[in-house]
Amino acid sequence: TTKIAKAEAEGRIWWSFEFFPPRTAQGLTNLYDRIERMSQLGPEFVDITWNAGGRTSDLTAQLVKTVHSYVGLETCMHLTCTNMPRDKVDTALREAKEFGCRNILALRGDPPAGSSEWEPHAAGFTYAKELVEYIRKGYGDYFAIAVAGFPEGHPESKDGRELEMERLKAKIDAGADFIFTQMFYDFGIFERWVKDVRAAGITCPIVPGVMPIQTYGGFQRATARFRTIVPQYFHDALDPVKDDDQKVREVGTKLVGDMCRKIVDRNRGLGISGLHIYTMNLERGSRMLLEYLELEPSVQQVKHLPWTLSLTPKRR
Ligand code: FAD
Repeated sequence: TTKIAKAEAEGRIWWSFEFFPPRTAQGLTNLYDRIERMSQLGPEFVDITWNAGGRTSDLTAQLVKTVHSYVGLETCMHLTCTNMPRDKVDTALREAKEFGCRNILALRGDPPAGSSEWEPHAAGFTYAKELVEYIRKGYGDYFAIAVAGFPEGHPESKDGRELEMERLKAKIDAGADFIFTQMFYDFGIFERWVKDVRAAGITCPIVPGVMPIQTYGGFQRATARFRTIVPQYFHDALDPVKDDDQKVREVGTKLVGDMCRKIVDRNRGLGISGLHIYTMNLERGSRMLLEYLELEPSVQQVKHLPWTLSLTPKRR
């Protein structure tokens, strides 16, 4: 059993942190420091994204290795089909296993930088479902496999909600264990989507994607990029403080924190116990969110974590 499966089975509230490979050596050093510090916040695992087109994919594997071996945290490696012939998929999976990673988020991937249309590689896969099947065939139950879900609908889809739901179910039927969702800020949309997911006969754990609000500019850019629906009361609360980063974080923490409380509130019966936190490689917003939710572990609980350990890569 992987750690995620165990946390879900126990039904306790758990959280994970998503990071992306930085572009510079200095960025990488900073990120190692940050992940080491954030390990004190008790994430169940750390997710490392996969760059569409594979430009920084070597770094994804490297980050997975370092987080697993030096920080001592469970990892989830994202893997996409974008520009990935099967032999590259094979290498990525072999390395993930070698590096002790037990979880893969299997995705189709974004189009590579500079393209707006997604095109399959001639020797690769067209849909995430095929990648899920391939991983299961090659590795049996070694990896827990997660797939992406879109409470607001997949941005490219012209096929309607019902067909999208069938395709999500097909990914689970192909062998996926979990659904990680795209970020959202409208609880009502998420709640309705969860009900539809369950009505479609999908019973696996759903892990909602939550992005803390860290700066007004960052919030605007992310919601524009993913075309996220932002409720009016978010704008009403954030707009008056938009030039004061500290206030934006405080107001944003309450807005996102209250939404998270609704999500994990058992009385609402969504049956959800995990939060997938999109950190944007920043620390403060995630820390404030967990404090607001009173979820950050006490010193007692994290005593076992190797938080005094120094990572060798930053000394290079
Ligand atoms: P799929 O499930 O394959 O779906 C893609 C599209 O194809 C959908 O519109 C679907 O309806 C359609 N489709 C599926 N099956 C069929 C079929 N049989 N016939 C016709 N159409 C079909 N991207 C990255 O590049 N790197 C990352 O690390 C990354 N991490 C992410 C993490 C999360 C939690 C999420 C939610 C997204 C992430 N993404 C990442 C983005 C993701 O790769 C894109 O949103 C991508 O467009 C969709 O991926 P998918 O796995 O849902 O694709």
